[in-house]
Amino acid sequence: MIINAISDEKYLGDVLVRSDLNVPIVNNEISDDFRISKSLEIIDKIYDYSRSITFVSHLGRPKANDVDNSLRPIAENMSKILKNEKVHFIKSIYGDDVKKSIKNLTSKIFLLENLRFDEGEMKNDIEFSKLVTSPFETYIFDAFGASHRQHASVVSFGNFLNSYQGPLMNKEISELDKLLNNEKSGYSVLLGGAKISDKLGIIDKLLPKVEHLMIGGGMCFTFLKAMDYEIGKSLVENSFISKAKDLINSKYGKKIVLPTDFGVTESIESNIRREINSNNFSKNQIGIDIGPDTITKFSEIISSSKNLFWNGPMGIFELDQFSHGTKAITQAIAKAGGYTSVGGGDSVSAINKFSNLNNFNHVSTGGGASLEYLDGKNLPGVNIYKPLII
Ligand code: AMP
Repeated sequence: MIINAISDEKYLGDVLVRSDLNVPIVNNEISDDFRISKSLEIIDKIYDYSRSITFVSHLGRPKANDVDNSLRPIAENMSKILKNEKVHFIKSIYGDDVKKSIKNLTSKIFLLENLRFDEGEMKNDIEFSKLVTSPFETYIFDAFGASHRQHASVVSFGNFLNSYQGPLMNKEISELDKLLNNEKSGYSVLLGGAKISDKLGIIDKLLPKVEHLMIGGGMCFTFLKAMDYEIGKSLVENSFISKAKDLINSKYGKKIVLPTDFGVTESIESNIRREINSNNFSKNQIGIDIGPDTITKFSEIISSSKNLFWNGPMGIFELDQFSHGTKAITQAIAKAGGYTSVGGGDSVSAINKFSNLNNFNHVSTGGGASLEYLDGKNLPGVNIYKPLII
């Protein structure tokens, strides 16, 4: 192994690694550990050069020391993935507990408690940053999924240690750059999911750059409502209707491809699905998936795209009856001939359910962060430290 970027300081000492271990946990079970396994790839690279390796991350949006948001189950999952290495969980973020464990090397690999248990993380507090970083010599920022946040671990921890940008960050950026640099050969974007406010805001920036912008999932109903369609009781973000109208009427509006038919239900709990054309919504129906004509239309665009970025499911794919669209689209992207890049936790779950991660050129650990990066934003945590190249 050759360490180029750190040739004079091969020895990293006690290393603090900021990863994004923010994974879905249901009934104390981790339902998808893709981010964890990706985050652990750094260990092989730095193991021989480190005295100890301590991971730190946020999990969810906890109010205070909320046990439901403890990282303890993540440490257990990390140990399982690593097999030969036990990850020692420290139930503090800073203080004597952390210092003693590291000084005494009770393990080689540690995980600290949820960064967001201290309000200093989200407030980007300098004293908090000093406290967390004080037992360490090296800081490696490797949390692409958090790189769009102006939080202490993203922008301030690095000021107190010898700091590097980690290998997962480097990989994420170079993969997304492939899409941006390929603008000439064109790229299309497929958006879905439910968090309309997160995604609608960037559509106007993406629209001039892309060939096609396909919109499915819960997001599309705000656009349909803006076009005066009846959408029954489907998800809608009323405060974005006028923005959706402006986008549709803009000079790039023709690039927006919306569903023309849907899977609908009168009650999500009933799990009963009917197919309707977008003109035929009745007031008590909820759009819960895209329909067969839309699957065909989206699949044609997907297979003819030289480059494609996908974020967000096409329907409530967690329920079998409402998952047809997401399943078909996942499989269409999996067999597409062009370069395919996917971001977002739910898209990764859909791939794990209906296909295989290996069928995609790049699967990003960051949903919101990858969209903001494509949008051309300078993310607070991107390229602020020298790359760690090993
Ligand atoms: P997001 O975090 O924004 O990517 O949203 C993911 C969630 O969107 C998933 O849990 C889906 O069940 C949900 N979703 C997708 N389509 C719909 C829809 N038509 N109505 C309600 N929720 C949806």
